[in-house]
Amino acid sequence: MAKIKVTIWNEFYHEKVNDRVKSIYPEGMHACLKEGLACDDFEIRLADLDMPEHGLTEEVLNDTDVLLWWGHCRHDAVSDEVANRVVAHVRNGMGFIPLHSAHYSKPFTRLMGSTCSLYWREVNEHARVWCVNPAHPIAQGLPQQFVIDHEECYGEPFGIPQPDDIVFITWFAGGDVFRGGCTFTRDRGKIFYFHPGHETFPNYKNEYVLKVISNAIRWAAPAPAMPDRGNDYRNPLEPVND
Ligand code: ZN
Repeated sequence: MAKIKVTIWNEFYHEKVNDRVKSIYPEGMHACLKEGLACDDFEIRLADLDMPEHGLTEEVLNDTDVLLWWGHCRHDAVSDEVANRVVAHVRNGMGFIPLHSAHYSKPFTRLMGSTCSLYWREVNEHARVWCVNPAHPIAQGLPQQFVIDHEECYGEPFGIPQPDDIVFITWFAGGDVFRGGCTFTRDRGKIFYFHPGHETFPNYKNEYVLKVISNAIRWAAPAPAMPDRGNDYRNPLEPVND
């Protein structure tokens, strides 16, 4: 079986300037994810904001089945050209998995067409991630619920369009709930938003978080595609005036 080609994109900023984040993710959270997701059927490459064209050239995206995205304080530094290129590739079938604060990334907000706003607080509370859709491929092998010891709280209302499927809803100790694992389809592309991954907590080393992301990569990988839909006149395929 052909390997799924995964590109993990990270703005890679906090890890360079914040000692606490650096101690958790010395090589960057993208490198940590690469290690945690490593398996025989994924071929994983890394890309970051400071690379030429943010590491997301046409050549790289043409060779990517599923793109993971982590960004937080440097969303605006992503060029419109690259953001639009990512959106075009998603629409053409590339899977897209925005993580945590990527809810405000240019590609995600453009694909959603909505505010993508949410409530948040950082008080080191624990979170309980509930699987509310156990039949979904992204839920396979996961327990009914799992605990994340410390995570930034994200709360409703989350300014997303109605998702295709809600796979996980997260409860936070401070009382909020959040649609933290949702799927969307845009043209031929499959999208899964997943909330864990605040930079000051080691949650990309959590076995359940990694299992969800790994399942999501397999789910979002493009299926053999129908030819592009085009926009041409089509003659009737059947007699219509008999
Ligand atoms: Zn955060």
